[in-house]
Amino acid sequence: MDWRDQVRKVVPYVPGEQPQGTGFIKLNTNENPYPPSPAVEKALAAVDADRFRLYPDPEAGVLIGALSERFGLPKDRFFVGAGSDDVLGMAFLTFFNGSLPVLFPDVTYSFYDVWADLFRIPYEQVPLDEHYEIQAAGYDRPCGGIVIANPNAPTGLAKSLSFIREMVENHPDVVVIVDEAYVDFGGESAVGLIETYDNLLVVQTFSKSRAMAGMRIGYAIGNPELIAAMQAVKYSYNSYTMNLPAQIAGAASLKDEAYFKEQVDRVVATRERAKAALAELGFQVLDSKTNFLFCTHPEVDAETIFAALRTKKIIVRHFSGERVKAFLRISIGTDEQMDTLFAALKEIIGDGR
Ligand code: PMP
Repeated sequence: MDWRDQVRKVVPYVPGEQPQGTGFIKLNTNENPYPPSPAVEKALAAVDADRFRLYPDPEAGVLIGALSERFGLPKDRFFVGAGSDDVLGMAFLTFFNGSLPVLFPDVTYSFYDVWADLFRIPYEQVPLDEHYEIQAAGYDRPCGGIVIANPNAPTGLAKSLSFIREMVENHPDVVVIVDEAYVDFGGESAVGLIETYDNLLVVQTFSKSRAMAGMRIGYAIGNPELIAAMQAVKYSYNSYTMNLPAQIAGAASLKDEAYFKEQVDRVVATRERAKAALAELGFQVLDSKTNFLFCTHPEVDAETIFAALRTKKIIVRHFSGERVKAFLRISIGTDEQMDTLFAALKEIIGDGR
């Protein structure tokens, strides 16, 4: 007997590179290129460090209160966590405790299969169609649950609200998780359906549209029974997932709706401009409703472009999976950063053709 035999074997999720030097144009992890609302900085500056002696409010009342106000829903519809990764992981652990496979697309957020493996959840990956779209037909069977990222990542493609409604309606006996990490950039949110369907859990994040990836704030919205089930699991694991600054900063962000809208609109405008610029360089670009573009070049290999950009200190994301290795995922930066990217691509593609 060796202690190594008892070690949990996992193949971890690989996050995008966070370079430590300066001078990089970082377009690889879908962060927001603009700062969070000035109200966030102000709220954090007012935090008295003496309060760090005490544990934070385990219920994150300030943050839940602000979410409740923003969405016009009662507080018992919300669950918060340290980023939506924490919330999604907790949801997998809570709701997927059966023997039938949980279903999600073969091309989607690559953390889903990692959580499923970690928690010993059976799962099957349903192929996207040839246009990289999620197909309803593949989900039309008994299963242990469904997870849909909408818009999907890394494709950027969004499904309609009626598609999601049908999915939830067709599977009343399992929980359907809709991961809306990117919804604010042009998708249709399913939050309006949570009062109608008790098996729908919507998950969102402050990391993208609210420009607060470093604060680690995510949340789920669902009916009180779903939320209570997640709370029970959370309190069986870690009562204090949300530190005090995160609770305060998150609440401040939610109260500055005007700034939020303005920044989201800026990113969307740059995305549309970038889409046209990439197409002009010969890229095929999927129709993104997110803050990134998923694109492939018919003549120059994606990995070659990725490496050439990296030498110019421009970091984008390349995935090695069979169905996605021809693509690059490019986060939307500022207009200036994108112009630098286009100039670099012009050189690389010119050389490569
Ligand atoms: N869902 C999707 C689809 C994502 O792309 C990400 C970002 N990696 C997340 C969830 C998690 O984001 P966070 O934990 O920062 O909220």
